[in-house]
Amino acid sequence: MSACRRGVRGVIRLYSIASSAVGDDETSKTVSLCVKRVVEVDGQHANREVGEDKPDKAGTAFPKNKVYRGVCSNHICDLSVGDDVMITGPTGAEMLLPEDPEANIVMLATGTGIAPMRAYCRLLFNDKVGGEGDSRKFKGLAWLFMGVPYSKSLLYDDEHQEYVSKYPDQFRYDYAVSREQKNDAGQKMYIQTKMAEPLGRRGVEDLQQDFQLGQARHMSPSLNARKGSKHEFNQKHSA
Ligand SMILES: Cc1cc2nc3c(=O)[nH]c(=O)nc-3n(C[C@H](O)[C@H](O)[C@H](O)COP(=O)(O)OP(=O)(O)OC[C@H]3O[C@@H](n4cnc5c(N)ncnc54)[C@H](O)[C@@H]3O)c2cc1C
Repeated sequence: MSACRRGVRGVIRLYSIASSAVGDDETSKTVSLCVKRVVEVDGQHANREVGEDKPDKAGTAFPKNKVYRGVCSNHICDLSVGDDVMITGPTGAEMLLPEDPEANIVMLATGTGIAPMRAYCRLLFNDKVGGEGDSRKFKGLAWLFMGVPYSKSLLYDDEHQEYVSKYPDQFRYDYAVSREQKNDAGQKMYIQTKMAEPLGRRGVEDLQQDFQLGQARHMSPSLNARKGSKHEFNQKHSA
């Protein structure tokens, strides 16, 4: 989905929809976004000089600094219930879940890149439309790897923990917190290292025989070589 504010730098910004097709309220009338404010303090660009930055809706302000506040992300984050927003889309990319209900799915996400993965997880493990009696229509294993700088940035953590507890045989959740965790070599923990831990015994090539990789083009070249996967991700494009 894309959104912009009328009259202010009329460039469209893209945002992945973070809700499944039925929406968070399951009425099929709403969409949810997961938007991170761009706020750069004493950086290369500024659209607020020293003294000009006012508290945003979250109450944060940097009046002693020159500040660049991203135009669209701050506009969205400062919206109030009932405000009109001009949106258009879908645009460009689509990434669809496989049709095979027994397919195994690996999801890789960093930061707000969790948005589409969160939408998939809602459908697989939360929404009524994804249910089948007391169980789920989805019969495979979904494995989410999430990368963030700080543990407080783990988005939708409560939902993912709930899926782990309700569907331990069908949902796995690993996260790499780069500024708080270290890998075996004492370096910052990134998502690719986290993936290598449980999978290291088998290797990435083996993994690709069994699992479907999302967002593969954003991963390291070793993870990006997906040829020969048993279940090809239904990736018309990439979100
Ligand atoms: C496919 C896709 C999906 C996305 N999904 C999400 C999502 O789900 N959630 C999310 O939060 N974001 C998402 N984004 C990012 C989003 O589209 C925006 O890029 C982001 O919100 C910043 O927009 P902004 O208007 O707030 O920042 P902008 O005002 O556009 O500023 C962005 C950058 O431009 C720099 N800049 C400002 N002025 C200049 C200048 N004169 N010259 C050079 N550089 C300058 C700033 O320093 C800043 O770093 C997605 C992007 C893509 C491509």
